[in-house]
Amino acid sequence: MARTITTQAIVLRAAAYRDHHRILTLFSPQYGQLTAAAHGALGAKSKLRAASVPYASGEYVLSGASERLSVVSFAPDAQYYGAMTDYDAIVHAGVLGAFCQCVILPDQGAPGLYALLLEALAYLNFGDYPARTVLCAYLLRMLDEAGFAPAIQQCMCCGAQRGWPMLEFESGGLCCRKCRPNACALPRGGPAFLRQARQGQIGALTAQDAAQLAEALLKYAQDALGQPLRAAALLDTAGPTNS
Ligand SMILES: [Zn+2]
Repeated sequence: MARTITTQAIVLRAAAYRDHHRILTLFSPQYGQLTAAAHGALGAKSKLRAASVPYASGEYVLSGASERLSVVSFAPDAQYYGAMTDYDAIVHAGVLGAFCQCVILPDQGAPGLYALLLEALAYLNFGDYPARTVLCAYLLRMLDEAGFAPAIQQCMCCGAQRGWPMLEFESGGLCCRKCRPNACALPRGGPAFLRQARQGQIGALTAQDAAQLAEALLKYAQDALGQPLRAAALLDTAGPTNS
């Protein structure tokens, strides 16, 4: 049965298809994950070129049978300034996009997660904060939104509020080293940064601390999802900061 859908969406993936086409994996706040073909997107005069770039966001009109949707038209968001060009920004966006792709389902809206991804993309695009710091703040908030919120007030094993903090999905959040010696260690300012992030603020981290915190959060996220985030492997090729 053919249908027409008008929805805001972010491009999570754009796979090449034949010469000039793209198959888009879209994240819609109302419909969750959608797959749609952008026919002729790479043609020189195509109006769908801007619609077919990873992390493009805007209003998509899609039409077709549910398994064979095509992009009919696209109106970019005010925040959309064309393709991301900064390598660090692309790599970090890729990790957050991959997290969303693991969580969202077809025909199941996820407006909170969508809003977080859009916000994170804006921060990564403009480079006001180091990319790894943005990743830490938004990965925490996405974990919260997806129902995997780590407890970050005290050790989940013994209740201690001090001690070198560790993070572990199995424990449900923070834990101290003597309780969970094999959990991931956080940098000294890590718990405070996470509490700020949960309030919607992006705190300051050194590049080294941001890298360590990101590693712990990624481990937590992958344990929560029960699958690897392959996009995270690319973080090693990007600096912990973007300048
Ligand atoms: Zn403890």
